[in-house]
Amino acid sequence: MSYATLLSAAGLSAEQLRQGTLVARTPIDGSELGRLVMDSPEQIEAKIQAASLAFRQWRTVPAPARGELVRNFAERVRLHKDALGALISLEAGKIRSEGLGEVQEVIDICDFAIGLSRQLYGLTIASERARHHMLERWHPLGPVAIISAFNFPMAVWAWNATLALVCGDALLWKPSDKTPLCALALHQLLEQTLAAHSEAPKGLSQLIQGGRAAGEQLAAHPAIPLISATGSTAMGRAVGLATAARFGRSLLELGGNNAAIVSPAADLALSARAIVFAAAGTAGQRCTSLRRLIVHHTTYDKLLPTLQRAYTSLPVGNPLDAGTLVGPLVDEAAYTRMQSALAIARKAGARITGGEAVRPPGLAGGHYVRPALVELPAPIDISRQETFAPILYVFPYDNFEHAIAMQNEVSHGLSSALFTNHLLEAETFLSSEGSDCGIANINAGPSGAEIGGAFGGEKETGGGRESGSDAWKAYMRRQTQTVNYSPRLALAQGVKFDIG
Ligand code: NAD
Repeated sequence: MSYATLLSAAGLSAEQLRQGTLVARTPIDGSELGRLVMDSPEQIEAKIQAASLAFRQWRTVPAPARGELVRNFAERVRLHKDALGALISLEAGKIRSEGLGEVQEVIDICDFAIGLSRQLYGLTIASERARHHMLERWHPLGPVAIISAFNFPMAVWAWNATLALVCGDALLWKPSDKTPLCALALHQLLEQTLAAHSEAPKGLSQLIQGGRAAGEQLAAHPAIPLISATGSTAMGRAVGLATAARFGRSLLELGGNNAAIVSPAADLALSARAIVFAAAGTAGQRCTSLRRLIVHHTTYDKLLPTLQRAYTSLPVGNPLDAGTLVGPLVDEAAYTRMQSALAIARKAGARITGGEAVRPPGLAGGHYVRPALVELPAPIDISRQETFAPILYVFPYDNFEHAIAMQNEVSHGLSSALFTNHLLEAETFLSSEGSDCGIANINAGPSGAEIGGAFGGEKETGGGRESGSDAWKAYMRRQTQTVNYSPRLALAQGVKFDIG
């Protein structure tokens, strides 16, 4: 199928794709897919004002009716799942099943949000004063700005947007300028849903196309009480500071440098499959991608040959082709960063399998690589950093406590895994003495989270939690309420203040 056919199937017209200066490209061969209008600072300001106005009405709509909007949106997404999945493959370079999986994640979080719309529970609290009662209630917060990264061009927005909508908030979405078409196609479906919903005010959700400057404008704006930002730690540091300076809230989902430990009690066949998907899948471009493997020295020589065989035979190529397991890197800068990390590791004495450029047949452009296994006796500076590419550093370990210390020594704290069938190891890893990450898995790789759990990480991953569990609370404001249903005024803590 031609690129034009895929774009049109996702609802993007030729007319829309030749309007502005924001160039959308496909990493498949680097060719141009279209040119979109970039929002000027004045247009962004107008969108913030429109969202603020819409919020005033939306907050009064009952939460279950807000859930109905999300249900109608989910129906449209279901109908367009194939086309949206193909668009993700085209613009972000994910293989077909991962593109479809990302759209499924959008549908799943809609289902979660619809149920949540009848469960925005508060508390009743015992009052120390007679004939008083106390409540904790959750109210809508305001317009929420979502700044998203290129590598999850639809799902991350949906994690935020669907919860924020049922919580009664208006939306502003600034997607990555590397994936503006995914945002446009998905947001169009929401706009169609809004137009057909009798209680949704005009302007409830605004799409803002632009780069870093557009994100900075949102982060600094006093009318936006919450900025939910997904991307690199450098971006999160800037957004966190700008938001804190005006006492706004930020929900930060930043980089990761995720490790897995393979114990002598691991099922090696299962471990190998999980490791290769987590490290080489999505061409190493997930925040939860496996980047460090810590293998017991007695297991090392049994596991490594299996990994090396898999790495040398993984099908690298066009993500739209059936059979491809590793698609392209997003752009030339990603390729350059990968090669310079490998050069540093090589200089430090690493034994490297893979890592070289690959030119798939029939493709003149694009940046394709064979995923790299980098064996080192111990961590070095570069292995402690997140390089957003398929590099897996492998180290041996002697004792379990040392392995946990190695896994926790990096500045990020997103996801982690232990492969073992040993109960004491598994429970220690999951205990307060174990993994220091937001996500900890046993006998499952660090990537591929389900929407039911709270997603996010500690330390330089930013501390935010999105998606399932009680992540919805970030999109609301908490109010403690006291009601006196007696005819007398009683003060807390027995304080007396008689004015005669
Ligand atoms: P990036 O930081 O380059 O960009 C992310 C978004 O932030 C883009 O929309 C960009 O325009 C915007 N932005 C950049 N600088 C900004 C600033 N100073 N102020 C406001 N907005 C700004 O990230 P990327 O290359 O698109 O994505 C890869 C990174 O994202 C990796 O580090 C990855 O680990 C991380 N990521 C994290 C999660 C998570 O949930 N923890 C999920 C996906 C990606």
